Amino acid sequence: MPELDGNALAGDLAEVFAVEMTAARFTCGGCRHSGTVATLRVWTPAPGVVGRCPGCGDVLLRLVRTPRSVFVTLGTTRLELDV
Ligand SMILES: [Zn+2]
Repeated sequence: MPELDGNALAGDLAEVFAVEMTAARFTCGGCRHSGTVATLRVWTPAPGVVGRCPGCGDVLLRLVRTPRSVFVTLGTTRLELDV
């Protein structure tokens, strides 16, 4: 099987992130609570938005906006999107 670069993800990522993300389901890695993103406990304002698990309070999502980028952190993975 040939190894591809990240461009091979373009179609799948466009499909996944083009939907209403608050309806996306999550499972907390800390307590295994599951629910939709809409049920996260969210705090603002801050340097960014933090979404915590309603079951245990673990941070599940961080979103930080700068003039040129949006940083989305899910677990230990951070995505930087140019805006
Ligand atoms: Zn939890």
